[in-house]
Amino acid sequence: GDAPAPAYLDNLNVEQRDAVETLDGPLLVLAGAGTGKTRVLTTRLAHLLETKAQTERLHPQQILAVTFTNRAAKEMQERVAQALGRPVEGWWLGTFHSLSARLLRRHAELIGLQSNFTILDSDDQVRLLKQIMDAEQIDPKKWPAKQLMGIIQRWKDKGLTPERVNESVEFANGGAKHLYRLYQERLKVLNACDFGDLLLHCLTLFQQHPEVLKQYQNTFRYILVDEYQDTNVAQYLWLRAMAMVHRNICCVGDDDQAIYSWRGAEVGNILRFESDFPGAKVVRLEQNYRSTPHILAAASKLITFNDGRLGKQLWTEIDTGEKVFVKGVWDGEAEARLVGEDIEALQAKGIGASQMAILVRAGFQTREFEERLITLGIPYRVIGGPRFYERQEIRDALAYIRIVAQPDDSLAFERIVNVPKRGVGKATLQTLHQYSRDQAISLPAAARDLIDTEELKPKMRQAIGGLLGDFKRWREMLAGSSHVEVIETVLDESGYTDMWRTSKEIDAPGRLENLKELVSAIGEFENLTSFLEHVSLVMENEQNDAQEKVTIMTLHAAKGLEFDYVFLPGWEEGVFPHQRAMDESGVKGLEEERRLAYVGITRARKRATVSYAANRRIYNQWQSALPSRFVDELPDEHIERISDTGLGGHGGNHSPGAWGADDWMKMPSWASDNSANRNPVSGASERKFASSGWQDRVRKNVIDVKPDGETSYSTNSKSSKYKVGDAVRHRKFGPGTVRAVDGNKLEIHFEGVGTKKVVDSFILPG
Ligand code: ATP
Ligand code: MG
Repeated sequence: GDAPAPAYLDNLNVEQRDAVETLDGPLLVLAGAGTGKTRVLTTRLAHLLETKAQTERLHPQQILAVTFTNRAAKEMQERVAQALGRPVEGWWLGTFHSLSARLLRRHAELIGLQSNFTILDSDDQVRLLKQIMDAEQIDPKKWPAKQLMGIIQRWKDKGLTPERVNESVEFANGGAKHLYRLYQERLKVLNACDFGDLLLHCLTLFQQHPEVLKQYQNTFRYILVDEYQDTNVAQYLWLRAMAMVHRNICCVGDDDQAIYSWRGAEVGNILRFESDFPGAKVVRLEQNYRSTPHILAAASKLITFNDGRLGKQLWTEIDTGEKVFVKGVWDGEAEARLVGEDIEALQAKGIGASQMAILVRAGFQTREFEERLITLGIPYRVIGGPRFYERQEIRDALAYIRIVAQPDDSLAFERIVNVPKRGVGKATLQTLHQYSRDQAISLPAAARDLIDTEELKPKMRQAIGGLLGDFKRWREMLAGSSHVEVIETVLDESGYTDMWRTSKEIDAPGRLENLKELVSAIGEFENLTSFLEHVSLVMENEQNDAQEKVTIMTLHAAKGLEFDYVFLPGWEEGVFPHQRAMDESGVKGLEEERRLAYVGITRARKRATVSYAANRRIYNQWQSALPSRFVDELPDEHIERISDTGLGGHGGNHSPGAWGADDWMKMPSWASDNSANRNPVSGASERKFASSGWQDRVRKNVIDVKPDGETSYSTNSKSSKYKVGDAVRHRKFGPGTVRAVDGNKLEIHFEGVGTKKVVDSFILPG
C-alpha cells in the first residue's frame, strides 16, 4: 500500500521481517541465541494487531501467545504496548499453565470439577497420595509417596491419563497406575487438581468435548510460542489441537537451548513441527545482536561438542569486544572475592548493577556470592528462589544451631521440635506454651520443667525428653570438638539430614547440597555465636526495591534473558557439568549440561567471565576440584585466561596436583593485600576492621544495622599455644613465622604472602 511501514518494522533485518510479515500459515523460526526470536514474536504480535484489526476484524481475544515464564509474558505485554503506542487487553498471553487454568475454569464442570477448583501444591499432593497409599496398605517406607508423585507427574507431562498409561513401573510392585487412578478420582472429589492436571484436563476436555475444542480452534486465529524447544508432549498436543483449524501457528526456538528434558521437554517437537504442519515455512536467523564476537565464537565452539544438533551458523556485526575471561582461583571464597572486585570495578566506571548477573548451576552456589555482595554493600536479588539463608532447610538447620548455641531460643525450639517428625502435635505445644506463659520462661525451659511431670503424655515425655537430652549432649560436645563437627553431628543425629536424604521430592538433592554448603559456611567462622551473628546481619540486610541490583540466578532461570556482564562461576567437574545429570542420564545428561553452558555464555552482551576453583570446602572438608571439561572446550583464540591468579595460562594442564606449593603464593589478590586484619578463612574481621572506601559502605549497610554486632567478630580470650618466633604452617598461606601473639590471635609473617592475623586453631606447628 501507500502507507509507510509501521516504525516497529524498521528495527528488523530481512529474515526477521520475513518472519514477522508471514502472518498466515505455520511458521517455525529456528535460530540460535540472541538472534531476535523473541523480538520477532513481539513484533509479530504488534503487527497482527496493527494490520489485521481493521481489515480482518482480528480481536485480541483471538490471539494466543505462550511464554515460558509469567515474567516473560509480562515483558511481552509491555513490549507490544510500546510498539503499538497503546495497551492491549483481552488476549490469551501467558504460560501453558496459566492459559490452561484460565481455560479450565470456564469448562470445569465438563470434566467433573467446579469452576472454583483448587490447584494443589506439592505438599498437598504428597499428603493426598499418602492417604491413598495408606488406604491401599502400601508401605510408605518402601514406596515413598514423593516418588509416586514424580511418576505421576511424568505421565502427565506425556499427556497420559490413567487409562492411557501402558508402561509398568516398579513402584508398589506395579501398582502405580492403579494408585494414579485413585489419586485422580480423589482429586475430583476434592474439587482440586494439581499442576500437571491443568494441561491434562484440557487434553481430556478436547477429546471428550470436540465442540469445545472446535470453539477454541475457531477462536484462536493466531498462535505464537516462545522457547518452543522446551515444550513437553502434553504441551505439544495442547498446541497442536489448538492450531489445527487456522494453522496460523508460529513457534520460535533453538534446539541448542533445550534444557528442560528433566521436566519432560522433548526437543523432538521441533523436528515434528514440519511433519505436523506440512508446508510449514522455516525461517532461520543467523545474525546475533546480543553478544560481541568473542563471546559468540566461544559459545558456538562449545556447543559443537554436542552430537545430533540441527546446526546453525551465527555471526555478528559487532566488531570489537573483550575475549571471554577464564579465571582459575584457589577456592570458592577467592572466586566470590574476584567477582565482587569485578563488580566494584564496573560500578566505579558508572555501570549499573542491573546490568550484571551471576549465573550458577545449582542453588547452593548462591551463598558465597550473596555473602560477598552483602559484605561489599552491593544490592542483589536472587531470582527463582529465596535467598540462601531464607530457604526452608537452611532455616530449619539454623534453628538447630540456635538451640545448641542459645538453649532458651523459643522460636528455634518450636520450629524444629517436630522436624523431622517426632509425633509432637498441637496439643503438646499448647501445653508447653501455656506453661511458658504462666511461668514467664522460654519454651525449651518449659519443656525441661515439664518433662518429668504428668503434664505431658508418656509418649511426649519420651520424644521431647530425648530431644532435650540431645540438645544437652550437643552443647557439651562444643567443649571438646570444633563447632563444625558439632553441627555435623547435630544434623546427623537429629535425623534432619536423613529426612531429606530419604525424601523423594524433586528438590531434595538441592536441599542436601544447601545443607552441605551451610556446614561449609559455618566452618568459615570461629564459633557458633559469631556465625549466628553473621547470619542475623545478613538477614537484616533488607534491600530497597527500587535500587539497581545484581541478579543472582540459576542458568535454568536465565533462559531468554540478557545482561551486559555475566559471571559464570563454578565451572568444575561435578559442579558443572553437574554430577547427578551425568550419573542419571549419561551422555544425554552431559549434552544437556553443555547446552546449559551455551545458554549461560550467550546471556552476555559485553563480557562473560567463567571461573573455577581449585578447591571447594565441602562439609568442612577441602576437596580439590578439576576444571570443567567445558573450560577446555572453549577455543583458545577467543578466551583470555586471567593469570593474576597464577593458575591460568596453560590450557590443558589443569590438575590441581600440578599446582606447586608456590603457585598460590603468586596468586590471589587477597593474599597480597596487606590489610593484615583480615581473617584469612572467614574474611569476617574485615567487617570489623573496615575503614575506607567500600569498607565504609560495609559499615553503613551491615554493621550499623546492629551496632553490637561488631563485638561478635572478636575472638575469644583463650591464650595461644604459640609464641613469638615459632615456625608455623597455615593451610592456605603456607609456612610462616609468628611475629606477635594476642590471645589466640597470631600475627604471622608468611613468606611471599605478607603479614596476616590469623586464629591459632587454623595453624599447625611448622
Ligand atoms: P534467546 O535465544 O536467548 O532467547 P532471542 O533469539 O530470543 O534470544 P532476542 O532476545 O529477541 O533474541 O534478541 C536479542 C537481543 O538483540 C535483544 O536485545 C534484541 O533487542 C536485539 N535485537 C534483535 N533483533 C535486532 C535487530 N534487528 N536490530 C537490533 N537489535 C536487535
Ligand atoms: Mg528469546
